[in-house]
Amino acid sequence: MDKSQTEMNRIQYFEKADTEKHREFINSQSNCVLCGTVLELTHAVDHIVGHIREEAHCPSCEVRTRARFHPLN
Ligand SMILES: [Zn+2]
Repeated sequence: MDKSQTEMNRIQYFEKADTEKHREFINSQSNCVLCGTVLELTHAVDHIVGHIREEAHCPSCEVRTRARFHPLN
């Protein structure tokens, strides 16, 4: 099999697993620590650098409560 194709499949697998893992985490910790409003979360996957950028944003306070980078492997 083409080596680059194998690498692509591997990245997509981790991306999916990480999203599901996050969903469970979000269900338990998805409220703003300041006002209790449900946070809006965004995930951006950077395949070139190889990490996921996660941001939680409170629509009420207009603050960004956290920004993290998760390695894909
Ligand atoms: Zn808030």
